[in-house]
Amino acid sequence: MHIISSNWETIYRFAPVIFLIIIGILFFLFVERNDKVNELRANLKKLNNSFDELDDQAKIIIKTDLELNKAQEKLDKRLNGLDALQQISRLISTTLDENEIFERMQSSHLAELGFERFLLLTSNKDNTVNCRVRLDFVDEEISEIYTTIKNTAEISALLQKGDYISSSKSSQELKELLTKLFKVNNFVLTPILVQNELLGFLFAGIQSNAFNITEGDEELVSILSDQTGQAIDNARLFEQSYNAKQMLELKVQERTKQLSQALEDVQVISQNKSDFISAVSHELRTPLTSIKGYAAILMTGKLGTIPEKVSERLEKINKHSDNLVKLINDLLDISRIESGRVKIKFLQHAIPSLVENVQDILSPQMKKKDINFVVNVEENCPKVMIDVSQIERVFINLIGNAIKFTPKNGTITVNISANKNREELLCSVIDTGIGIQEEEAAKLFNEFYRVENEVNQNVKGTGLGLALAKKIVEAHSGKIWAAGQLRKGSAFHFTLPVEQKTEEATEG
Ligand code: ADP
Repeated sequence: MHIISSNWETIYRFAPVIFLIIIGILFFLFVERNDKVNELRANLKKLNNSFDELDDQAKIIIKTDLELNKAQEKLDKRLNGLDALQQISRLISTTLDENEIFERMQSSHLAELGFERFLLLTSNKDNTVNCRVRLDFVDEEISEIYTTIKNTAEISALLQKGDYISSSKSSQELKELLTKLFKVNNFVLTPILVQNELLGFLFAGIQSNAFNITEGDEELVSILSDQTGQAIDNARLFEQSYNAKQMLELKVQERTKQLSQALEDVQVISQNKSDFISAVSHELRTPLTSIKGYAAILMTGKLGTIPEKVSERLEKINKHSDNLVKLINDLLDISRIESGRVKIKFLQHAIPSLVENVQDILSPQMKKKDINFVVNVEENCPKVMIDVSQIERVFINLIGNAIKFTPKNGTITVNISANKNREELLCSVIDTGIGIQEEEAAKLFNEFYRVENEVNQNVKGTGLGLALAKKIVEAHSGKIWAAGQLRKGSAFHFTLPVEQKTEEATEG
């Protein structure tokens, strides 16, 4: 019993301490829990703030997404429009027919440009209207639209200037007039200019009120009308140049016809001239032969002694008759070659040997004047197909002239060489005589042409030698020309083709 009472005493003694300890523990637990609660509250607040921020961001994202969608829609529309514009442009710029341009536009996908109503009107020279392209417009509307546009000074002035009119930029008054006229709510009206002249206009409109005309739409319609104007301009220029070409061709045809008629006439006249010369020459040759024959008989003295004075006269008759015979023969030859009655007898022949032969024939005349005669022949000079006697006559005429027009102790040079590709042989007769004037050079080959100079005053000539030489060279398909300088000398050149086809000689 004593032990039990001492336990209770101990308990009573330590009770306040225990109580204090318990209170301390409870206080400690309470403080700690309160801290946690505060911490949790702070975290909750933070969480709420984050949720709010997230909510705001979500709202921004949704808004941006909506805007992006709208922008995408606009962009798609613009891209479609540009694509359609590119296709229409390609279609209209690849034709040079004015009507075809509008037909192609009409059958193209105009609606894909983003407008519902289209109208392209042009005015004719007589001020009447021409409806070229339309989408969703009927005949009855056209006339009123055209007259109103034409008669509204403000609209006409803007279009004339090349400006466009758009529902989003024009004055309220103009917008009301045009929306009512075209029965749309939004529109772009652009001029069609050709060479800076107003030819008509292009209208593009949309009925929806929600749709606003953007700068891009204005640009699209303006580009289309510019390109239409350009295509019309190109087509008109092409038509003009085509017509001019046709006219020119007609004129050329007409002129060619006139020229060939003139050529035919000249050929007939030339033939008549040849026939006449040939006939007269033949008629003259017979009595001339008799005159020469009688003079020769008389000169022999068989018909009685001839006094010296008579003999001198007879010799003159003989000499003049010889000159006349030469002239007649030359004339006959020219007319024969001209009329083709002399067929050239082509044979392969070397020109140097031919020149040697001519030198022999003319050497007495050269000796008389102490002429220095030089022949230069190119090594491996090709042979040519020629009528030997005819080309010999050419050389005799040229070298004979050179002797005639070169003073004593002068030099005559004959050059013979082939051209670069060895297709032609060039023959030249060059002298150191009285020479020729440049402007006379071509005339020397005309029949009967002789230069007025001291030699020609004393020496008789016919003026036919060079004309005959020209005919012969041309009959060989060659060319002949002269050059030189007065008082310094002359040069006569002619060519002969190396290849010539052989023809049988026939003389008419
Ligand atoms: P012709 O010698 O009978 O007058 P041609 O037809 O042979 O006739 O010559 C025509 C003219 O050309 C000559 O009258 C002369 O005026 C000029 N002529 C020709 N050869 C020469 C030459 N080598 N030098 C200067 N003049 C020449």
